[in-house]
Amino acid sequence: MSEDRRAFFRALVRSAAGEAAAPAPPAGLGDEEVERYSRQLVLPEWSELSQLALRDASVLVIGAGALGSPVAAYLAGAGVGRLGIVDDDAVELSNLPRQTLHFTPDLGAPKAESAAAKLRFLNPEIVVEPYQARFAPAMLEGADLVVDCSDSFATRYEVNAACCAARTPLVEGGVIGLSGLVMAIRPGESACYRCAFPEAPPPGAAPTCAEAGVLGPAAGVIGSLQALEALKLLAGLDGALLDAFLQVDLHDHAFLRVAVRRRADCPDCGPAYD
Ligand SMILES: [Zn+2]
Repeated sequence: MSEDRRAFFRALVRSAAGEAAAPAPPAGLGDEEVERYSRQLVLPEWSELSQLALRDASVLVIGAGALGSPVAAYLAGAGVGRLGIVDDDAVELSNLPRQTLHFTPDLGAPKAESAAAKLRFLNPEIVVEPYQARFAPAMLEGADLVVDCSDSFATRYEVNAACCAARTPLVEGGVIGLSGLVMAIRPGESACYRCAFPEAPPPGAAPTCAEAGVLGPAAGVIGSLQALEALKLLAGLDGALLDAFLQVDLHDHAFLRVAVRRRADCPDCGPAYD
């Protein structure tokens, strides 16, 4: 980008933030960052402070599969300063139609490492830390936000409980077939996943993606919505899916926002919590 164009974006960023155009560079943002993030910096909803908040943020993405791929790619692209990628699986041939951070030459490679390699190509300015392991609550140390892209109810409830205990904001998501769900959670302030869904379905009642199937773009939609919610929470934007979950049916593009409330008897975020 030319100096002129860079100056143009700086002026645009300032005018979008309601500031007078001044010769001083934005505090903390370098020229390359202004250029890289220019299309989000000019948004009326965004600001230099939003971008700096992202750069200072540490986000843990649990699962580097169909949801984790778009989530991690969008968060890396947007400039989240540190991304932890948790996955204990290896790349399989049947993953490739929807797990967009993995390519055919990656077959057999650990998903966390495969994902991290692509994310570093996407944005070398950030730190990407792969964890080839199952989720453990100790991983929340230092995390400002968690995005749960796991594919099992057991992990989802484990992550919810751990995030509530650590008071770490969480974005939940799930997809199967052409349907999915997204929910944002600020523990102690908004309903948690267990407030919305007190009991996991009994074993065998909820089919897995291996049994029921899933279409790649459906996972892409849900993962993109999770990334959007994560950015809203990190940058303090309005409209996050707090005290609500979004039920998405992509057969007919029905998006239903379902209001939920904190439950006084919730074992994860209930009375013992406060
Ligand atoms: Zn709860």
